[in-house]
Amino acid sequence: MQVDILIIGQGISGTFLSYYLQKEKKSFVVIDNGFVNAPSRVAAGIINPVTGRRIVTVWKAEELFPFAWQAYNEIGHQLGITAISQKNIIDFFPNPFMRESFLKRIEEKAEYLHSFPEQNHFNLYFNYEFGCGEIRPAYTAHLETLIPAWRKHLQQNSQLREEEFDPALLQTGNEKIVYKDIIADKIIFCDGAGDSSNHFFKQLPFAPNKGEALVVEIPGLPQQYIYKKSMTLAPLAEKDMFWIGSVYHWDFDNAEPTPAFRKNTEAVLKEWMRIPFRIVEHRCGIRPATIERRPFVGLHPLHKNIGIFNGMGTKGCSLAPYFAKQFVDHILYNLEIDPEAGISRFQKILSRN
Ligand SMILES: Cc1cc2nc3c(=O)[nH]c(=O)nc-3n(C[C@H](O)[C@H](O)[C@H](O)COP(=O)(O)OP(=O)(O)OC[C@H]3O[C@@H](n4cnc5c(N)ncnc54)[C@H](O)[C@@H]3O)c2cc1C
Repeated sequence: MQVDILIIGQGISGTFLSYYLQKEKKSFVVIDNGFVNAPSRVAAGIINPVTGRRIVTVWKAEELFPFAWQAYNEIGHQLGITAISQKNIIDFFPNPFMRESFLKRIEEKAEYLHSFPEQNHFNLYFNYEFGCGEIRPAYTAHLETLIPAWRKHLQQNSQLREEEFDPALLQTGNEKIVYKDIIADKIIFCDGAGDSSNHFFKQLPFAPNKGEALVVEIPGLPQQYIYKKSMTLAPLAEKDMFWIGSVYHWDFDNAEPTPAFRKNTEAVLKEWMRIPFRIVEHRCGIRPATIERRPFVGLHPLHKNIGIFNGMGTKGCSLAPYFAKQFVDHILYNLEIDPEAGISRFQKILSRN
């Protein structure tokens, strides 16, 4: 089988990379092992424009967010699914300081932050002593619908191999990439925190961290918002189902869910919710985060037919569509990749191979 591009991984990164290659009528095949704990199968898909205690706008929000909205709608339209919804965030202030900080940022005319006039609107559902504000617009990407729908689409076009990629079988010596019976012009690793790409990109400053979440059933809780207090409660596509998370474990020796997270989250829910809930599932995944919190996008400086599309960290849902398009434009038309995301910033260390 001869293709233009061999893609390793069909998380949100491999999904959008293959989507833009398809739009350009390029041939490709995706190898994915269907790992259930891949972050793209664990995340709630929240696209939140602000971050941190000072509630500042996230990196490149003005470009990334409208792009993501359009990209998810386009791919959803092709697949006949809803791939994204606007879900504004109701930010319940956990203490008077956070309330003050939020209101001060509104006074400063911070983008995305709004007062919520009906302060008692959520009394039926939640305990909240210090009021709430609204973060708008915010979105959820419906990964639990999109990833399987795109997978099915790939399967129907014979563009997916559901198997483990074995780096030992990869031949890269010549101009072409050879893997088993696949001959490709290029191989692009979208394998997240998996280590199949390590041989070529092991010098990149990854800083993987482990996250956990619970899936809970909360009958009657309106699903048009994301709710945030000490944790984030986000609606899933299925009726009455919500996702609550998350944590950032920097020190971990396995990818298993921890009883401590479940216990703590259940306690948070008991204190926060005024209506019954039922825990349905406990999820866990390793985020492909990077030390400088910027993605890794580009072709290897020494091996021009080997590329990486990774390092999406905590924000894969907004980063992946935008940078997948940039990467495809770079491969096909030699357009520049944003220098903050492009791996040419690591040219020196990657050239030490
Ligand atoms: C608990 C949690 C909550 C999160 N919440 C959000 C959120 O709300 N919003 C947001 O934007 N981001 C969130 N993230 C981060 C987000 O999930 C990631 O940034 C994103 O999913 C990374 O996507 P990816 O495709 O690069 O990697 P992955 O999702 O890891 O995908 C890699 C794919 O490659 C496959 N693969 C790996 N190795 C091999 C191999 N050797 N052979 C074959 N296949 C292989 C895997 O099966 C997988 O399908 C969260 C992450 C976690 C863990």
